[in-house]
Order: sequence, then C-alpha cells, then structure tokens
Amino acid sequence: MDVLTLTYVNVFIACTFTILLALQYKAERQLRYQRYFILAAIFMLLNALISAFSFTTHAVPYWLSPALSNTSSVGAHLALACGIHRHLQLPGKRQWLLLAIVPLYLAQLSDFAAATIANRMLLAIPPVIMLNLWSIRMLSRHRDTELGPVYLAFIGVFAFNIIQFILRSAYMLAEHYQLVQTHYSALIHSVGYFSLTAFAILVFGCVIMLSHSQQRLALLHISERDALTGLLNRRSLSPRLLAELNRTERNHTTLSILMFDIDYFKQVNDTFGHRAGDKAIQHVVDIASQQLRDYDLLFRYGGEEFLICLPDTSENTALLIANRLKNAIEANPLTAEQLIQMTVSIGVSSTHQFTEPDTLIEQADTALYQAKQSGRNAVVSFHQL
Ligand code: GH3
Ligand code: MG
Ligand code: MG
Repeated sequence: MDVLTLTYVNVFIACTFTILLALQYKAERQLRYQRYFILAAIFMLLNALISAFSFTTHAVPYWLSPALSNTSSVGAHLALACGIHRHLQLPGKRQWLLLAIVPLYLAQLSDFAAATIANRMLLAIPPVIMLNLWSIRMLSRHRDTELGPVYLAFIGVFAFNIIQFILRSAYMLAEHYQLVQTHYSALIHSVGYFSLTAFAILVFGCVIMLSHSQQRLALLHISERDALTGLLNRRSLSPRLLAELNRTERNHTTLSILMFDIDYFKQVNDTFGHRAGDKAIQHVVDIASQQLRDYDLLFRYGGEEFLICLPDTSENTALLIANRLKNAIEANPLTAEQLIQMTVSIGVSSTHQFTEPDTLIEQADTALYQAKQSGRNAVVSFHQL
C-alpha cells in the first residue's frame, strides 16, 4: 500500500475510533477515563488529517506540518497515559500533565526544531517512549487484578510501539546522516505509516476491551452480591460451594458450613422499624466478617439468615468458630440510635467427602431448626443430633 493510501486509512481509523469511543462514553458515563482515550483518538485524527493534507497540498506551513502533527502524536500518547492513570485511579493531577503539549508545540516551533528532522525527532520521540514506558509501568503494577489480561494486552501494544519507534527513528537518523543507502526509504516510510495504523487499531481495541471487561465484571459483581450487605447472594452459593466440595475431596480435607439466623428478628423490625432492622442486619454481618479467615465465604442466604463456608475445617473447629460467633454477636449489641441486642442460632454441618451442596445445606438447616427448638442463642451440629 502506498503512503498516501495509508494516510487515508489512518484518517478513517482515527475518525472511526473517535466516534466509537464518544458513543460508548455517551452510553456509559461513569467510565470517566474514556474522556482521555477520546482525546487520544482526536490527537491521532488530527495527526492523520495533517499528514493527509500535506500529501495532497505541497505548500503546507511549518507550524502545521511537521510542528503540529509531531505535537499531536506526542499528545495522543500523553492522553493515553493519562487515561490509564485515571482508570487505575492513581493519585496526582493528570489534567495539568496534558498542558505539557503547549511547551512541546513551542519547542517544535523553535529554530532548533526547524533546523533538521533529527532535531524534531529528538524533541518528539523520547517523550513518546517515556510516556509509553510510564503506561507499561502503571499497568504492570496492576497485573494481578481481575483486569490483568487486558492490562497485559495494553503492555504488549505499548512495547510494540516503543520497538517500532526506536527502529524507525534509528533508520531515519542513519538515513539523515547518510550512514545507510536510501533506496529502502519509501519502504521504511510505508512501514512507519503502517505502524501508526497498527498501533491505533491495537491500542483502541484494548481500550474497548477494557471498558467491556470492566462492565462485565461490574455486572457479575451485581448479580453475585446482595445490595444491603454486599455479601455473596444465594444465587452464587451453589457454584461456590460445589467448587469448595470438589477441592475438599481432592485435598482429603474436611469442609464445614454454618447456617445462622437472627433470633426473634421480627421483633426488632416491629420495635425499632425496618430501617433500624436493616442496620441491625449490617451490624451482624460486620461482626461475622471479623470472625472469619480470608478464605472463608460468607453468604446472605435469606432475609436474616446467613451461611458460612469454612474450607479445611473439622467439625470440632467449626463448632468452636460457631460458638465464638454466637458469643460475639450476643456481646456486641448495635448502639447506633437505639440499643439493639441480638442473638443468633447456628446449625453446623461437616463433610470430608464429596456431598451434593443441597444435601449439606439441608443438614445445616436441620441443625439450625434444632438450635431454634432448643430455645435459640445456641449452636447445634447435624452429626450430633
Ligand atoms: P426466629 O427466632 O424463629 O428466627 O424468629 P424471627 O422473628 O427472626 O423469624 P424469621 O427468621 O422467620 O424472621 C424473618 C424476619 O426478618 C421477617 C422479615 O421481615 C425480616 N427481614 C428479612 N429480611 C429483612 C431485611 O432485609 N431488612 C429488615 N429490616 N428485615 C428483614
Ligand atoms: Mg430469625
Ligand atoms: Mg429467618
């Protein structure tokens, strides 16, 4: 493909991505970082338009090309880095950083820059490489998060960009100082324009992948969690319990579950009102969360009924944990507006081999029923019935 066609392709791609990202931001305004990526697309569009214009018209003023086109190229990388900084919610005033394009443009207008292409490259390429390295550094520090695979794709794209910039500028400098024969010049220029096209497609592909993955994770979070307590909900119980039961069988360990229900909770609602009842539920959840280890799972099973999954926990240890939890709830009444004293009844069930999740839950429920029957504020194990 000749350079002119590639330039038009670049205009088309930058224009498409600007519109796509703007539409996406309009539909999903809480993804605030998208504004920086839209700005990056606009800078790329400006750069591509100036290139297309300078190929068709010969008398292009210096302030437009190469001064403004070089600046917009740096500006695109600056906006991309700011977008990543915003997405990762890192501290610092990134808006001010964007103003760096003003001195960069003034530098491109200077006599030093106007003298040779090598000088202009010296002013534009190191900042681009530094910005790409900064983006890689920010993303690689968050590789272990749920969006890690998307960050890895971004890192690959920025690494590709750094390599192509270094190779291309090394060749152009060698050509400028007549260190290499120039009959590959046209090819290298085509490769250069193609690299711009490839970078734009890849980086904005990553941007779109990022927002989609983030929205998918947010929806997954909403579908798995309960709105009042933020705990895992009943829908997510079976698959999680199944995974833990498989692990238990594989590792020859014991899995225990606790099912607990707040005693006489209707009275709490009737006496203090539904809102105070909600706070009381949150209070019990806070206490329960404090009692658990990192790998224990706490679910809101029903209104004021909860289930705790304790991997690698024998029945005796589960009974100890259950009693500790029961005592902690009894000893820590809610003291917000009114004093709300609560107790819980707990049913315990354990298994050291694979059992259907529903069977284990039914056993804990039976034990809980017995704990209620025995007068409440009690712990009962299914296997001791
Ligand atoms: P028991 O000791 O037998 O458990 O008596 P109880 O009064 O607690 O009976 P039960 O467990 O059946 O009561 C459930 C009550 O919890 C009924 C319902 O109004 C209340 N409840 C369920 N979910 C919520 C909630 O999200 N907020 C509030 N405030 N109340 C809730
Ligand atoms: Mg109850
Ligand atoms: Mg209940």
